[in-house]
Amino acid sequence: MAILIVGSLAFDDIETPFGRSDNTLGGSSTYIALSASYFTDKIQMVGVVGSDFEQQHFDLLHSRSIDTKGVQKIEEGKTFRWAGRYHYDMNTRDTLDTQLNVFADFDPVVPEPYRNAEFVCLGNIDPELQLKVLGQISKPKLVILDTMNFWIESKPDELKKTLQNVDIFILNDSEARLLSGDPNLVKSARIIREMGPKTLIIKKGEHGALLFTDNGIFVAPAFPLESIYDPTGAGDTFAGGFIGHLSRCEKITDVEMRRAVLYGSAMASFCVEKFGTEKIAALDLLEIEDRYQSFRELSRIDE
Ligand code: AMP
Repeated sequence: MAILIVGSLAFDDIETPFGRSDNTLGGSSTYIALSASYFTDKIQMVGVVGSDFEQQHFDLLHSRSIDTKGVQKIEEGKTFRWAGRYHYDMNTRDTLDTQLNVFADFDPVVPEPYRNAEFVCLGNIDPELQLKVLGQISKPKLVILDTMNFWIESKPDELKKTLQNVDIFILNDSEARLLSGDPNLVKSARIIREMGPKTLIIKKGEHGALLFTDNGIFVAPAFPLESIYDPTGAGDTFAGGFIGHLSRCEKITDVEMRRAVLYGSAMASFCVEKFGTEKIAALDLLEIEDRYQSFRELSRIDE
């Protein structure tokens, strides 16, 4: 089933204790789309880029059969830019710079053929834009939203309004504390679910992810890796694997949601192994399935 993805397309300057990479292709929707492309070939992107977004960047997305007809190119502007520096533990980072550029005046238009998309993934961008996109989709089966501290701090009311129209909300632990105003994650989950989304996923970086539904809490570990080069995009890659798996399920049950968390975690574990999108742009289905199975083994006990 088709997945419509809206979010940032970006160039990132990334600094980790193990190196740096400048002008790297990134952005929330880039990571989500690449990750989800291993689960379905019906991915439709809505976004905006500037004149510095070259054909090679589009070619990379097309090589994974991602439809970019909904990505507007503004010749008079520059693509969104973000710069971040990771701390020694690689679990925390400082944002050094955010330049909205062409996103500052972006008026999203969902192309006609995309308006029947069954799955909608509202990647991290201005919550007002997320809502504008949602208003153009006729009857989505499932709406997933991701955000980050930048929007929780700068547009909390707009974000809360958008959340009323969302089925599944994904954010990380520090963002959950920030949005709920409570340091306890279980309490935070209750407070945030009362804002609208019935299902909530709290990502905890190298400590895995928590899924909160009406049926309880599911805890997924993160894959224990010896080499982590760059955590940028891991959260979005998780969201792509999560929605990708759900899009191929006939029925969305609690069990499928739990499987989707493990697929999302498997995809995120690949993402951090190289800088930027390098690794998740060149995976094969066998290695994804292999890692998914390794995840299942991580907390299995044979009595
Ligand atoms: P993640 O590591 O999953 O949080 O996602 C990192 C990606 O989000 C980077 O590639 C950035 O370009 C993008 N990003 C960072 N800040 C923002 C923002 N305020 N709005 C939209 N995208 C952003």
